[in-house]
Amino acid sequence: MVLSVMPTYARYDLTFVRGDGAYVFDEKDDRFLDFGSGIAVNSVGHCHPHLVSTLQNQAKTFWHCSNLYRIPSQNILADRLVANSFPGVVFFNNSGAEAVELAVKVARKYQNKIGNSKKYRVISIEGAFHGRSLAMLAAGRQAKHLDGFGPIVDGFDQVVFGSIDAIEGAITEETAAVIVEPVQGEGGIRPMELGYLRALRELCTDNGVLLIVDEVQSGIGRTGTLFAYERAGIIPDIMALAKGLGGGFPIGACVARDEVGCAMGAGSHGSTFGGNPLATAVGNAVLDVVLANGFLDNVNRMSGIFFKLLDDLVAEYSNVLSEVRGVGLMIGLKCVDPIKNSEFVEELIKENMLAVPAGDNVVRLIPPLIIDETHLNEAINILRLTCKALGKNKS
Ligand code: PLP
Repeated sequence: MVLSVMPTYARYDLTFVRGDGAYVFDEKDDRFLDFGSGIAVNSVGHCHPHLVSTLQNQAKTFWHCSNLYRIPSQNILADRLVANSFPGVVFFNNSGAEAVELAVKVARKYQNKIGNSKKYRVISIEGAFHGRSLAMLAAGRQAKHLDGFGPIVDGFDQVVFGSIDAIEGAITEETAAVIVEPVQGEGGIRPMELGYLRALRELCTDNGVLLIVDEVQSGIGRTGTLFAYERAGIIPDIMALAKGLGGGFPIGACVARDEVGCAMGAGSHGSTFGGNPLATAVGNAVLDVVLANGFLDNVNRMSGIFFKLLDDLVAEYSNVLSEVRGVGLMIGLKCVDPIKNSEFVEELIKENMLAVPAGDNVVRLIPPLIIDETHLNEAINILRLTCKALGKNKS
């Protein structure tokens, strides 16, 4: 069937029409356990009552206001992000790609402003994913994403995963910044070691290079701290956010250290919709929930329990799964060749559970952060059934 929608997604044969907490429901009202969260977006679950009432109230009051005027909910959200990260300034946009692309613009502008006009290049890490704009495709440098979109945008260099020496070797007098995902998401849930992040911070500082963290997927509590970089005890220069910040309402944000972000003067960037009253009201509502006492403690508790259960599962079904990895509730299960992660996800769907394939033959488990032990037990039962089914076929 030819649809009017551009065929850029190989979609599952599923149509969901509503959601509630950790569950989504299809047209027949069949219930699915959602451990994909719309790819790490539904941070506080589907239709969280606080988000629903906030959005309803805002919709009755004021939807859109141009950035030509002050937007109080935008100012409040910026203040809260900065108060909970590092002293800086925030620009709001509508997606992850826009937030990361702005991070690169800010890095170039700052270097230019302080007299380093030669510094414009950005070093990224193999396996990275930073979005689908032309520049972010160049940053991610994945052949499958670049196919047919050449020539590749200049200004990006890529180094192997996990090697500080490789980054050091790649820094030239033209390097403006290094960009990292503290935990690679699309690349297959690959956490950067904390020592690596610390060494990277030092290397950047020593070389007058800015450190950009892409927390589009790992941010907003997903790894058990509000931002994943916190675990390393470092402060980045620039941070990109999106996904979980809106809990399902489109919003992105670029946070930059005061000195760095203030290089962006009036007229240097803009967005029609970015940070409008609807988006920032919801962003504030998400923070109300995630920053509430005990919320992140629960994420960490659930993570501890889940990892234990998953370790046991991997030990029991070593013919299907070889590894569980990740941080907090950003978890990956690596499938054993020839079992494909896509096959594993299809099998989960048969048992009414959603998860998301990622690179390196990994199945991503990224549930809403509001889950409790009941959800974990339900997930483990379904994962066990799936391992049993796939293990039988393959051995
Ligand atoms: N950066 C990271 C780390 C991501 O995981 C993604 C999306 O998966 C993006 C950027 C791009 O976000 P968006 O799809 O909202 O443009």
